[in-house]
Amino acid sequence: MWHLRARFCPLCAAELAQRARQGRARLCCPSCDFVLYANPASAAAGLVLDGDGRVLLVRRSIPPHRGQWALPAGYQERDEEPRQAAEREILEETGLRVRAGRLLDLLFIAADERKPANVAVFLCAPRGGELCAGCDASEVAWFAPGALPQDLGFGNGHRIRAWLASLDQGAGDDSA
Ligand SMILES: [Zn+2]
Repeated sequence: MWHLRARFCPLCAAELAQRARQGRARLCCPSCDFVLYANPASAAAGLVLDGDGRVLLVRRSIPPHRGQWALPAGYQERDEEPRQAAEREILEETGLRVRAGRLLDLLFIAADERKPANVAVFLCAPRGGELCAGCDASEVAWFAPGALPQDLGFGNGHRIRAWLASLDQGAGDDSA
């Protein structure tokens, strides 16, 4: 994880050193007291459903889980609301404009080669645009709930099925 291998203070450029702070070893600046808190990043993902209840998935063209199918998702910019982040990432990766509605879940994704992240998953409805694989995606397609691909990255197959089942139970009050 690159952010735990930082060497120099981003504020004053002095060399960072491991120090005990709040019960953990953290990278601290001996010169200006800056502490590098390696907090999880924030990200947003969309469960996009079309009028037939099919799920929009992208085949990832970048690590991790390169070559596997996943929900369109990405990191939140510092001036974005979580729903805006989901809508932007979905447009970038799939070409579709969507409206992000109900918050379905908040997942914690442990660190891999990237930072750990909290991922807000929103139920999304298409509003326009044209389906086409964009950033970080080699393919984009709709899948019927009973025919989800086997190679779903991040172990997300069971999560997607659980969200779809919960939506079926609450049918009638969905307002994505
Ligand atoms: Zn410093």
